Amino acid sequence: MSLLDRAVVTLLPAVPKPVIRRISSRYIAGSELADARRVVAELNAAGKLATVDVLGEEVAHASEAEAIAAEYVAALDAFERDDLDANVSIKPTGLGLKLGYDLCKRNVEAVIAAAEPTNRFVRIDMEDSSTTDDTLRLFRELRDEGHARVGPVLQASLKRTVADAASLAGASVRICKGIYVEPESIQFRDHQQVRVSFVQTLMTLLDGGCYAAIATHDEWLVDRARDTIAERGLDRDAYEFQMLLGVRPELGDRIVADGHKLRIYVPYGRQWYEYSLRRLQENPKIAGYVAGDLGRSVFRRR
Ligand SMILES: Cc1cc2nc3c(=O)[nH]c(=O)nc-3n(C[C@H](O)[C@H](O)[C@H](O)COP(=O)(O)OP(=O)(O)OC[C@H]3O[C@@H](n4cnc5c(N)ncnc54)[C@H](O)[C@@H]3O)c2cc1C
Repeated sequence: MSLLDRAVVTLLPAVPKPVIRRISSRYIAGSELADARRVVAELNAAGKLATVDVLGEEVAHASEAEAIAAEYVAALDAFERDDLDANVSIKPTGLGLKLGYDLCKRNVEAVIAAAEPTNRFVRIDMEDSSTTDDTLRLFRELRDEGHARVGPVLQASLKRTVADAASLAGASVRICKGIYVEPESIQFRDHQQVRVSFVQTLMTLLDGGCYAAIATHDEWLVDRARDTIAERGLDRDAYEFQMLLGVRPELGDRIVADGHKLRIYVPYGRQWYEYSLRRLQENPKIAGYVAGDLGRSVFRRR
């Protein structure tokens, strides 16, 4: 990232919300379930699958966590009615993890109860390192209680991840780089080290008979994954690629054209602001977008 981009990233929280909303509209389906249904239908028509995220993290009251769980249930019902190919991705803190493990688990079980009758998968997103142990515990308990269509996420940037992967034999696991900044003692900082850890984690998951959901827009990693798939002669149903809505769609189109499964992560909900800030902070073209959009809003006022 250039110096200018870094400066813009630091200043992003001061940028007016309507500007953030406009430039981040490519990353979020919208604020309502109807928006998610429309976007998923478009993705399905283009040969892409979806995993839908109801935006909301670190809720302050049990009622908020229950409301997010209820929204997931409504979303799953709607996907079935519309005959859409969509699963869900849930965040433990959005479902109340910081208020209590048992409360969170009850809410996750409510989502699973809505997903299981129609054979839809529930992915448990991985958040910051204060939640890693509880999130893996949650997954293991649910699996041991007989829920087969649920799976965790591992973050290649964490030093513990290859060991975690080895302990998850047979599971369906999403592997990503990891978005949260953690203490250097537990996280790789070097870009190439994170890539190496990603590849090692992928190999470990495949060695353990896992279903691998390869979540990245890094072409170097996509190429390494494609090589691995070819070398191991993996069946199309043994893995999938995953990407975020609005990020590098041309790379996604190539993945689909080459015959691989691709699932797009589709966030929606009223709490779009925090998610948008995170996506923009990762975006290497951030300065241009923000400057362009601020410029347009200034000129429009005249
Ligand atoms: C489906 C999916 C699910 C995820 N789930 C989690 C999770 O549960 N927990 C977690 O911590 N993280 C999650 N992530 C985020 C992930 O950890 C990374 O932060 C993110 O994917 C960027 O890493 P990258 O592998 O794409 O590589 P990068 O090196 O960051 O990006 C590669 C290239 O992709 C493009 N790019 C990347 N991000 C953007 C952007 N925002 N805007 C425009 N271009 C961009 C750029 O061209 C960049 O050079 C998920 C990512 C995906 C795709």
